[in-house]
Amino acid sequence: MEFSFREILMDGIDDMVFIVKVENQRFKYEFINRIALQNLGLNKNIHGLSFSDLFPNDIADFLSKKYQEVLLKGESITYEDSYKKNGNLEEKHYSQVKLTPIFDENGSCIRIVSVVRDITKEKAALSYVKEMVNKIAESNERYQSLFTHNPDGILTFDKKGFITNGNLVIENIVGYQVMELIGKSFKDLIYGDKTLLKKSINKASEGTTTIGEFLLENKDGDILTINLKLVPLILEDNVIGLFGILKDITEMKKTIEHLEESEKRFRIIAENAHDLITLVNKKGEITYVSPSYKNILGYDHKEYVGKPFIHNIHPDDLARLMENFGRTIQSSEPFQCEFRQKNSKEELLWFEAIGKPVFNPQNKFQYLVVLTRDITLRKKYESNLKHFAYYDSLTNLPNRILFNEKFKIAKEHFLNNNDGLAIIILDIDHFKRINDMYGHDVGDMVIKEFGRRIKQSVRDSDTVARIGGDEFTILLPRIQNAENAINFAERIQKNMQYPWEINGEVLNVTTSMGIALASISDSFTKSSLMKKADIALYQAKESGRNSFELYEII
Ligand code: GH3
Ligand code: MG
Repeated sequence: MEFSFREILMDGIDDMVFIVKVENQRFKYEFINRIALQNLGLNKNIHGLSFSDLFPNDIADFLSKKYQEVLLKGESITYEDSYKKNGNLEEKHYSQVKLTPIFDENGSCIRIVSVVRDITKEKAALSYVKEMVNKIAESNERYQSLFTHNPDGILTFDKKGFITNGNLVIENIVGYQVMELIGKSFKDLIYGDKTLLKKSINKASEGTTTIGEFLLENKDGDILTINLKLVPLILEDNVIGLFGILKDITEMKKTIEHLEESEKRFRIIAENAHDLITLVNKKGEITYVSPSYKNILGYDHKEYVGKPFIHNIHPDDLARLMENFGRTIQSSEPFQCEFRQKNSKEELLWFEAIGKPVFNPQNKFQYLVVLTRDITLRKKYESNLKHFAYYDSLTNLPNRILFNEKFKIAKEHFLNNNDGLAIIILDIDHFKRINDMYGHDVGDMVIKEFGRRIKQSVRDSDTVARIGGDEFTILLPRIQNAENAINFAERIQKNMQYPWEINGEVLNVTTSMGIALASISDSFTKSSLMKKADIALYQAKESGRNSFELYEII
């Protein structure tokens, strides 16, 4: 009986069996079955050997502890262990060990039986299952999170385009709850022609991802523009369904359309403008000019693109223009400035520019829109106006106003330098007769010629002014003394003696002159000096005309 029991233990079971004899708290092998001997690479003669005789120290210690534990507890223990089969490091085996104490009649433990079951396969299967479970959970989670938290709307469809699921974003886009959508055909949500969508669904069902733009009517009846990417869901080479990624691009489309619209509007204005329209980038280079450049500046408008805005500007106006540019980019306030630039004929023309900076939504400077108008004519008109205000239109000589201004400057200079200041008032003798005899037009021509001859007789720095009718004045600064003034009067008198041929008529024209010299000791004014000159003139007239008188001398 005992023998056959040994035989069974020895050869009949797949588990490893060890029987250890317990003597004075020490453990000695009494029996190890065949499979254990094979697995551990031991020979048969193990009887009476201890753990440390058979195993390395760490294993022997470990086993001692476990067996001691059985002794202490007086009952079976089970633990898991691992070993390398036949010492082969690659072939790691897992085992479950059960240590069972065997007692004698006195209740003392005399043997411990160890049954070691190989659980490597079970372990592997278990860890595989665990791994799979983890993987599934993980990918499911990942899928769920992608599905739920995706910033785009996601719908899943069957191959025919019937909705099988959707995420929360889709509810925001279409206005329907996912529950309301399930079972519906996606085509029903499409506004207008559905053939393109049908084609997309068919293509995706055949395994090809498609992207398209569709109009979708949401629950409120609004028409949205959506971008739909249809991706086939493929399992083992078969398309089992589709999923669609939806983006609501209505706003984006509107913005683009708006931009296109405003761009179109801008072009219409620019192409037809009489003014110059220029776009200038942050480097100050021209990126666009309107066709009107051709008419106004003479160069083809394309020739300007890429050139600096300031390439043709008059050097005296450059600094002012640059300053305006800088200020407007910093403050984003428009600028207005006048400058001159050359046309293709190298003529300098006046322009008035209004510049406005354009910023992108991130507040970054984009470009400067400059509207420029040719103001050459206006400038001319302005300067003509200025001229008319200060000059006599008949003789083109300074008028009374400019004479007064020049007198102020001359007086100031004289008071500082005491270098002489005189005025001469001249009046044509018997001018009425000329008018009467030859007519007013000839009279006008006489006045013009009279002014020219006075001007010819004096220095450039002297001011000859017509102060009314046939009356002229000369301002003589730095005249030093009365003699010099008299010399001028004599020269004028002489110049009047040259023949007057006007309109085919030969005339005799003479003038009377009154001279007054300013004196630093008098507190003179223009009026007082003019009065003195006028008195002298009166004297000259009285003395028979064609003469001059100096007030001082009277
Ligand atoms: P006198 O020698 O005393 O100066 O005699 P006069 O005839 O020149 O007399 P007075 O200087 O007082 O008259 C000037 C005249 O000049 C009066 C006016 O009819 C004429 N007259 C004034 N302005 C103009 C003008 O713009 N053109 C013409 N043709 N005649 C003018
Ligand atoms: Mg006169």
